[in-house]
Amino acid sequence: MINNIKKDFPLLNKKINNKQIVYLDNAATTQKPDAVIYAISDYYNKYNANVYRGIYKISEEATVEYELAHARVADFISCHKEEIIFTKNTTESINLLAYSFLNSTLLIGEINKNDNKKESKEDNKEENLFILNKGDEILLTEMEHHSNLVPWQQLAKKLGLKLRFMKIDKKGKFIIDKRLFTEKTRIVAVTHVSNVLGTINDVKKIVKLAHMQNALVVVDAAQSVPHMPVNVHELDCDFMAFSGHKMLASTGIGCLYGKKKLLEKMQPFMYGGGMIHLVDCENASWNNLPMKFEAGTPPIAEAISMTAAIDYLTKQGMKNIRRHEMELTTYALERLKKIKGLVIYGPDTAEERCGVISFNLKNIHPHDIATVLDKENIAIRAGNHCSQPLMNALQTNATCRVSFYLYNTFDDIDRLVKCLEKVKKIFS
Ligand code: PLP
Repeated sequence: MINNIKKDFPLLNKKINNKQIVYLDNAATTQKPDAVIYAISDYYNKYNANVYRGIYKISEEATVEYELAHARVADFISCHKEEIIFTKNTTESINLLAYSFLNSTLLIGEINKNDNKKESKEDNKEENLFILNKGDEILLTEMEHHSNLVPWQQLAKKLGLKLRFMKIDKKGKFIIDKRLFTEKTRIVAVTHVSNVLGTINDVKKIVKLAHMQNALVVVDAAQSVPHMPVNVHELDCDFMAFSGHKMLASTGIGCLYGKKKLLEKMQPFMYGGGMIHLVDCENASWNNLPMKFEAGTPPIAEAISMTAAIDYLTKQGMKNIRRHEMELTTYALERLKKIKGLVIYGPDTAEERCGVISFNLKNIHPHDIATVLDKENIAIRAGNHCSQPLMNALQTNATCRVSFYLYNTFDDIDRLVKCLEKVKKIFS
């Protein structure tokens, strides 16, 4: 059971006009507990130094904590610590992949072309996975956040690839059409949980279909890893991206998981200090994982905040968090459905979705709704949620979105519903 934890989050206890904030924009970013804030200030107060370089105590301590953060994240999603690369956020993780595929295609493709020895294709099977040829396909869904769409659009334009899409049905689930998985499919990039509809997608099934065609699977887990137990080993996806700031850690830290055997074969996309092994005036070789993909001074304080965030989440228990959010979602769906003129998008039940609910109120613009709610110190999101293709599929320009996290309560939902009734009166 998760009870009475708002006290751990200083911002949630702040009052404006004598009203405590009801924070319902957790899909955008989450509030931070004292434990995370202390971990960051502890680093700056007690052992602020760069990592890997200094032969002195505070640098060694910072290095130990920075490496520990990789291990903690790896444990959290059940992989090895070399398979966790720290980035800035989910967006950077996905861009890293797209650029790496581009570099691999340009570089390895060129080497293979000039290689007279016929051994390359079979011997470098894994390396060749990253070589994309004109006409190859990237399979996406209509419900992708722009972060898991635009990088692939750009890659497709540069290499002459084709984008294909799984469509969504009336209930906000995408239709897994097996005919879209063909020998031309090279990358399948899907969101685990929709940031608009909350839909939990069947990634395991997608991975099986993709692997039958030797395609690589990239999972955008920005909205799943923070909210439910996720095991990359069980899912068997090749890559997974998520952001620290959506799971209690600070901004400026993101993660990219990749299977070790794949990361070892991939080309880096950022070059400089930290990611090299040996350098002479003309050439350089690459460091071991994960440093090969972490060029320059990394986000040290941010990584340390990730350890504190994961410790906090683990103490509450990811299964409990999922259960708590399901209870909140069931209650919210029930109450919202009773408001006349309110349309809810996405699946009917909390079993099929995470704690994200998008809705519209007939004839009232989402921005107007959000503005009135803000007057009552209730924070929700209104807009297209960086998902314009999904808005087109839903035949709307914008929605209101409420999204829950472990600290939200039934009382928060009661305040929301009461205020929505007020909105209706104001605009009637
Ligand atoms: N993918 C999904 C599903 C998201 O919800 C978000 C952010 O809302 C992102 C990607 C991008 O995350 P970030 O802004 O942390 O890079």
